[in-house]
Amino acid sequence: MRVSQMYAPTLREVPAEAEVISHQLMLRAGFIRKAAGGIYSYLPLAWRVLKKIENIVREEMDATGAQELLMPIVQPAEIWQESGRWDVYGQEMFKLMDRHERPFSLGPTHEEMVTTLIRQDVRSYRQLPLCVYQIQNKYRDEKRPRFGLLRGREFIMKDAYSFDKNVEGLDVSYQKMYDAYSKVFTRCGLNFRPVEADSGAIGGSGSHEFTVIAGSGENEIVFCSKCDYAANVEKAELKPIAAADEEVKPMEKVVTPECKTIAAVCEYLKLPIDHSVKAVAYNSNKGLILCFVRGDHEVNEIKIVNTCGVLEDSLEMASEEQLTAAGTVGGYMGPVGIDLTKATVVVDSTVMNMHNICCGANEEGYHFVNVDPKRDFNVTYVADIRMIQEGDPCPHCGAPVVKARGIEVGQVFKLFTKYSEALHATFLDEEGKECPMVMGCYGIGVSRTMAAAIEQNHDENGIIWPVTIAPYEVLVVPMNAKDKESWDKAEAIYEELKAAGVETVIDDRNERPGVKFKDADLIGYPVRVVVGPKTLANGQLEVKIRKNGEIKYLPLDSDYVAGIKNILAELAVNA
Ligand code: ATP
Ligand code: MG
Repeated sequence: MRVSQMYAPTLREVPAEAEVISHQLMLRAGFIRKAAGGIYSYLPLAWRVLKKIENIVREEMDATGAQELLMPIVQPAEIWQESGRWDVYGQEMFKLMDRHERPFSLGPTHEEMVTTLIRQDVRSYRQLPLCVYQIQNKYRDEKRPRFGLLRGREFIMKDAYSFDKNVEGLDVSYQKMYDAYSKVFTRCGLNFRPVEADSGAIGGSGSHEFTVIAGSGENEIVFCSKCDYAANVEKAELKPIAAADEEVKPMEKVVTPECKTIAAVCEYLKLPIDHSVKAVAYNSNKGLILCFVRGDHEVNEIKIVNTCGVLEDSLEMASEEQLTAAGTVGGYMGPVGIDLTKATVVVDSTVMNMHNICCGANEEGYHFVNVDPKRDFNVTYVADIRMIQEGDPCPHCGAPVVKARGIEVGQVFKLFTKYSEALHATFLDEEGKECPMVMGCYGIGVSRTMAAAIEQNHDENGIIWPVTIAPYEVLVVPMNAKDKESWDKAEAIYEELKAAGVETVIDDRNERPGVKFKDADLIGYPVRVVVGPKTLANGQLEVKIRKNGEIKYLPLDSDYVAGIKNILAELAVNA
């Protein structure tokens, strides 16, 4: 490829709407252009990167025995109505009508489609296990499409689905995918961690997210400083903290004027914060939920969703009217005396161990002190509902956990029989008994992975592609258009590299070297070869490695093509 011919329109200015670096760099380096919010054209350089990621994914999927197929993007509403998700999926689903006013969706995911496909054709235990996958566009009308390709409304996903006879079979299929995902992201040259995850709206339990470590990531993860435990903060379990024994005192109501926050209450009453609880009130599809955690802890909404069995999308902050109707008031909420037919009260298990604590008295300006939760609280659920914090004990070994931010690039789920039961995907087992298939589903965000690679690998000058997914491997830069000898030599080297199977670009524009170097760094070619009168006079090629700025000199009378290939191979190993 010649830069003079290449459709990669670079920009000098950073477009104002681009908040994160991958979005900025992909616009500036001419990788993507926006068509509508969260919907982009992939220009040739981006498309090459996407194809490389897809090929790595494809090779690792095929190696597990999974078979590639392609299902429709346009999906009839019936299958979603049958599974019960037509309404549950909500506004995230793009819906459309055909000319006969029959409703369809643009597939946000394919559990319904694949399950109704497989149920027609797979009847016997002899046909199981089976695993299929596809790579295609997915459509989700995200509430906040943003960060370029990280959260798009049209994006490329690899989705795989496994069908087994039983849970033991699912465990094997799941592990194969888990291992394949680890290989995929390693081969993409990314620093990532598989973390335990909540299985979310998709259902089932047993899930891991593959998270690329990056400060700009939307996901927070924790990992143990000692053992290999790692989890999404939403999922991270916490054991209840024990509290020292204390003589239980009689409960008292005290005035706490203008004390609206738990810190203000503790300050006013001269109480340590670990003798207080704080409240968060939500409205949900099952009505008002009052949540109580220790004063210095935070509520984990996903744990509330799972504990109370409410819809995640339905959760919102409760209104003052709702609180009044349930006999309480904002700033002074407490679990003492709440009518459990009017509100669901969820108390964190750590709180139930505490003694002589203070909590709101459900009356403006008053708190209770010397409350004993076991004695005085009205409770619907006691559960682990708090958000893990840095330094909290690891649920496996007790060592302190560390927090990090990351980008979820893939997720594996055990679905069990959620979809096979709803959609009647059954098989006849060895005894001729009809059983639901046991399913798993496995997604990789291909376009998000490209963006995540940039979030993790860039500097102030531009992108630093891991060599395995770079759009091209080598850029040859002739330095001086007036010096025919070195220009011809650059052309010759370009041809030699191409002939040797190296993906090479030559910057044949009549531009100053500075301009060429700037664009080279911005686009992020892993290796840059400079050919000019000076380097020729010295009898060598100047080879610069983008990743670490290292410069190597390869003698012109050596097998420099092999030398460059060696450098590329080393970069791939150390990716
Ligand atoms: P998120 O929590 O980030 O919304 P998700 O859990 O809804 O993602 P899955 O249904 O597990 O996503 O989809 C599989 C993969 O598809 C994700 O791991 C992610 O890499 C990718 N993906 C999901 N939503 C988007 C999006 N809006 N834009 C780009 N990639 C996405
Ligand atoms: Mg997910």
